[in-house]
Amino acid sequence: MGRIEKMKNETWGRVKEQLLESVGRSNYANWIEPLELRKVDNGVAVFSVPTSFMANWVSRNFADTILTHLKAANAPASRVEFKVEPHQSQPAVAPAETAPATSNQTPTLVHEAPAADLPGAPLDPRFTFDNFVVGKPNELAHAAARRVAEGGPVTFNPLFLYGGVGLGKTHLMHAIAHEIRLRDPEARVLYLSAEQFMYRFVQALRDRQMIDFKQIFRSVDVLMVDDVQFIAGKDSTQEEFFHTFNALVDQNKQIIISADRAPGEIQGLEDRIKSRLQCGLVVDLHPTDYELRLGILQTKAEGYRAQYPDLKFADGVLEFLAHRISTNVRVLEGALMRLFAFASLVGREITLDLTQECLADILKASERKVTVEEIQRKVSEHYAIRLSDMIGPKRVRSIARPRQVAMYLAKHMTTRSLPEIGRRFGGRDHTTVMHGVRRIEELKATDSQIADDLEMLRRTLEA
Ligand code: ADP
Ligand code: MG
Repeated sequence: MGRIEKMKNETWGRVKEQLLESVGRSNYANWIEPLELRKVDNGVAVFSVPTSFMANWVSRNFADTILTHLKAANAPASRVEFKVEPHQSQPAVAPAETAPATSNQTPTLVHEAPAADLPGAPLDPRFTFDNFVVGKPNELAHAAARRVAEGGPVTFNPLFLYGGVGLGKTHLMHAIAHEIRLRDPEARVLYLSAEQFMYRFVQALRDRQMIDFKQIFRSVDVLMVDDVQFIAGKDSTQEEFFHTFNALVDQNKQIIISADRAPGEIQGLEDRIKSRLQCGLVVDLHPTDYELRLGILQTKAEGYRAQYPDLKFADGVLEFLAHRISTNVRVLEGALMRLFAFASLVGREITLDLTQECLADILKASERKVTVEEIQRKVSEHYAIRLSDMIGPKRVRSIARPRQVAMYLAKHMTTRSLPEIGRRFGGRDHTTVMHGVRRIEELKATDSQIADDLEMLRRTLEA
């Protein structure tokens, strides 16, 4: 095998790794893994794919992303092409050689960034503000991100975004970076994961390049570190992060951090760092609610429908998905994508039946497994009442209200029917349950304490 051939395969191996991160595991397995890079010729990267359906799909959905990552890896490509070629042979490279270097070993340069010497990670071109659907659970995070992206004097530093997996933290961070670059192409924006930060740091230590390292990180205008919980328990990385952080704050440079939980809740993170992180604006992305999920599905489905004008789409499918699929938006997106791919492949209308058939595994996996008993226990704890009172006959407000909260949650978080729920609340009638659920629905809209309680309880129950 020639040197060029080998280089090509190594680059593609690295790019695939990046793609895995940016498109997610299932998209990756379905659409990226089967691609074979044939050649890069005259700025055109030519891939072979096994079927024309795949060629179409990949070119419609992933061409831009693939190109972005190729460019980021310095491949001389300005266009990608997909050629249908039934694959019989394995790639002409021994497995050991194709094994992609781990992303840690090869931090990627920021694509098209003016400051191309910054050791950042590539930005996903789809993660823009335009593509971000705003709903109640994320409106504050979105507003804060917008505010930071506008530039101008730094008003809160850092902006700390946190929330569960797949709720849009990375999307918002990339959107900020895109927007800042759009407004000021000269701005030095550095986005990377905490893991990459650590890797750069360790590498600099090893290569005795700490001075360069410090210089680079202290010379940026905007620093974004994603998934900062990763450095918890890694003492020297934390130390360096702390110094970088302070240096930038002193220079009034904007810092944006994300994590999967609030600063105070990250175990193994030094107290001085926690308190530094809390100094700015701390906002959380709440688990998606039905309306937001539906909004996201509608937006994405719109895009698919434009691509597949012939595909028929029955009413109620999106509502069904929004209702049945978990809060993680990544899972939601994957489901919709699979649905359209499947429907167009078999040439059938997207109906509820087809949806259930095509997404059986996803639907099953996101079935809520919370039980009424668990709900009763958590709610009793939360309001500090006895579990026996929850089920018992007492009707004083201090007990009846938590009981109604538990009924409400049981209705929304389990698949139990009203009579079944009633039975679990000491044999109450289903109309009593219905009344309780309605009462809480009303209160939720007017009483922010109740709304907060519900949110909190739902979160702990879903965790
Ligand atoms: P996190 O970093 O919080 O784990 P991501 O930002 O990677 O989550 O989001 C997961 C996927 O869901 C991405 O494809 C992202 O574009 C999408 N997504 C999340 N929230 C939204 C939203 N509000 N509107 C549109 N897409 C969203
Ligand atoms: Mg993320």
